[in-house]
Amino acid sequence: MNIDWANIGFGYIKTDWRYVSNFRDGAWDEGVLTQEDQITMSECAGVLQYAQTCFEGLKAYTAEDGRIVTFRPDLNAERMTDSARRLEMPVFPPERFIDAVEKVVSANREWVPPYGSGATLYIRPYMFGMNPVIGVKPADEYQFRMFVTPVGPYFKGGAKPIVIKISDFDRAAPHGTGHVKAGLNYAMSLHAIVTAHKEGYAENMYLDPGTRTKVEETGGANFIFITKDGTVVTPKSDSILPSITRRSICQVAEEILGMKVEHREVLLEEVKDFAECGLCGTAAVISPVGRIDDHGKEIDFPSGMEEMGPVIRKLYDTLTGIQLGRIKGPEGWIHEIPLA
Ligand SMILES: *Cc1c(COP(=O)(O)O)cnc(C)c1O
Repeated sequence: MNIDWANIGFGYIKTDWRYVSNFRDGAWDEGVLTQEDQITMSECAGVLQYAQTCFEGLKAYTAEDGRIVTFRPDLNAERMTDSARRLEMPVFPPERFIDAVEKVVSANREWVPPYGSGATLYIRPYMFGMNPVIGVKPADEYQFRMFVTPVGPYFKGGAKPIVIKISDFDRAAPHGTGHVKAGLNYAMSLHAIVTAHKEGYAENMYLDPGTRTKVEETGGANFIFITKDGTVVTPKSDSILPSITRRSICQVAEEILGMKVEHREVLLEEVKDFAECGLCGTAAVISPVGRIDDHGKEIDFPSGMEEMGPVIRKLYDTLTGIQLGRIKGPEGWIHEIPLA
């Protein structure tokens, strides 16, 4: 494979094989690997009219010992089940989800970036309503699809802290769909992120839509804070998407690094007292945040604008060490891809 792995960025590159299964007459078909990357559907498909779609995102890595591995794909399968239920879509069975991950990564093994390149193979499972729907109701027919695309190192030349702003828009409604991975949550965040970018910010901090006094998350990553005495604090709310990266970091902090971890409501008012702040998700693992702009009032973290704070750096190194097989993690976190 003639790719400059260090310089590919985070974009779509068409690979050879994808997995497709269709749901018709109340059942999922067997599923196949196909080279067909185009989808043909009715102009009135449920996904096109009423956005009935959900997705997942995970990565395959070449580990230090050369094995191709994924990180906790069982949690992605489980979360997609929750998303499907909330959106009145049929559940794609979790064991079949794992099987599809194995098949699609194995078939595209040439596309898995080498160990040490910083690049990874991003896996995108998703599902959508496909038959004509014009009166508002769930579709009857669905497609589950999973493609892969190599993505570059998220941080080229080190992780520089970013500046974010407190958004005046909300990401999720109370009792809405913020806790599931629905495309619609992203559609409604686009205006907010385009606005933030125009103003020179890298991301938005969304507050709880009910009272706008508590920290929720960004458009696609959960927050993690470090107190001045080294405790890891992550915001708790029913409208935050339960990040697998965030949950793994908290477990690593507690069980491997022996740190104190608190998962609780975080008031905007207390953010200025934290020592470090980061955003966590599959794409970047953790992106350090150096400054938050609250309507002209700046919150500057003591970790500064030059590099990751020491505690976040340690969490980052430990988690990526586990993902790449350099450090032994908890049982079952690393799922080896059998190469058929
Ligand atoms: C996917 C996603 C995350 C990150 O979740 P991971 O499982 O860590 O990748 C965080 N917030 C939102 C809104 C997301 O959609």
